[in-house]
Amino acid sequence: MRMESERALIAEYGRKMSAAGLSHGTAGNLSIYDRQTGWMAITPSGVNYFDITPEDIVILDLDGKVVEGKRKPSSESGLHLGFYRANTDGTCGAVVHTHSNYATTLAIMGEPIRAVHYVIASSGTHEIPLCEYVTFGTPELAEKAVAACNGGKAVLLANHGLVATGVDLNKAFSLACNLEDVARLQWQCMCAGRMNVLTEEQIQKVMVRFKTYGQTTALDGSLNGY
Ligand SMILES: [Zn+2]
Repeated sequence: MRMESERALIAEYGRKMSAAGLSHGTAGNLSIYDRQTGWMAITPSGVNYFDITPEDIVILDLDGKVVEGKRKPSSESGLHLGFYRANTDGTCGAVVHTHSNYATTLAIMGEPIRAVHYVIASSGTHEIPLCEYVTFGTPELAEKAVAACNGGKAVLLANHGLVATGVDLNKAFSLACNLEDVARLQWQCMCAGRMNVLTEEQIQKVMVRFKTYGQTTALDGSLNGY
């Protein structure tokens, strides 16, 4: 079986994603990209995350052709492939797509995720941009989402959800969790009618600190635990 360890990781993180409340039922999807072979391992379409086994994961090449797998790949395979194709410096090794509640609420309101908490700096940008509404599973959505992301690590999809990327699946998943927390804080502040948003300069300083924070010497400025 090809990409065996990646298949196991995706099955494990699918359960983590459901347990963390980032997705319900069959919503959302996860992938890992192997730059050496040019293959992507991705969750299958329409299978509950608690039931997914490594054998259910589908392997596709960068053109979306099935390399290995019995299942139908996620309907958002093109969205995931779009991010890997656009990434030239090797910093995008995994993509997590969720319909998590608070991030999606802001995406419905037409609001980007703003710097209401310093952990947004783990995305590498001062705010998470919003991609206009496009029908799910279409090449147009992939194209517009990658363009709206503009080289950052995450983007909101209007009336749909969130895409978070990272050098590996753990980083992409952590970012999706952090952004859901920030989105929730922002939504609460919006309900209360007041919020102080950190400036780009303040977030830049946090990014510098993240690079030397804790046990990791992550070159991409991301963090786990803060
Ligand atoms: Zn979706």
